[in-house]
Amino acid sequence: MKPELLLSRIRVVLCRPSHPGNIGAAARAMKTMGLSDLRLVRPRSFPDPEADARATGAVDVLESAEISDSLPEALAGAVFVVALSARRRDLGPPIGEPREMAARLLNEALHGPVALVFGNETGGLSNDEIQQCHVAVTIPANPEFSSLNLGSAVQVLCYELRTLAFAGRPMAVDPTVTPFTSPLASHDELEGLYAHFARVMTDTGFLNPAQPGRLMPKIRRLLGRARVEKDEVNILRGILAATQNGTGHARKV
Ligand code: SAH
Repeated sequence: MKPELLLSRIRVVLCRPSHPGNIGAAARAMKTMGLSDLRLVRPRSFPDPEADARATGAVDVLESAEISDSLPEALAGAVFVVALSARRRDLGPPIGEPREMAARLLNEALHGPVALVFGNETGGLSNDEIQQCHVAVTIPANPEFSSLNLGSAVQVLCYELRTLAFAGRPMAVDPTVTPFTSPLASHDELEGLYAHFARVMTDTGFLNPAQPGRLMPKIRRLLGRARVEKDEVNILRGILAATQNGTGHARKV
């Protein structure tokens, strides 16, 4: 697949950005590296002249940016989702480095749209937002001052992606594809599966919603690592539905 096409499948999602200037900087960072799919989740102010000013020649990226009310909406259809986090979290997904993750993203982009999720300038990503991602990336930085400007963080990832996409590695053959594979499950299908797990575990008494502990984050980690396919989601949901019927609970798939 052509590097330009692969890069066009990489979506940049900015969660709750406070400064419109940073949205413009992110658009510029993307366009210089050949990316164009920008999504904004509840931006404080957008459109905004400050965003246009910082984007300079990348105003077209801003104009085509989609605005969403929620992260799941911005991630609809994505088959692989990476969180950008300056901090390590106890319950978060496994952490990788930008270069290694760029390789993974380009490989996954062979299957469909993939997304990079960036957090708010002050608070970063919430735990709920980070839980929705398969893996997290931390840009190695000075441990005493490790938080990059939002636009700079977008630039680092886009640069790594472009460098690798044009490095001439043969990517047409994907070693993970075997004769029985179905397309990868999308973000919304996985969220449906997690909700189904939570429901059945609650109904069967395995999960106490008052004291959920680490159960759901652990299940998300497990299935996030597995690169679950559409057929596999259907199988797991079929098993869950059958279990639910067995316990006398109405089928609520
Ligand atoms: N104070 C916030 C950082 C906000 S910076 C915090 O502690 O999380 C805004 C966003 O830029 C972050 O949410 C993250 O998506 C990205 N970012 C900044 N520095 C980063 C780093 N060193 N590694 C990965 N992402 C980073």
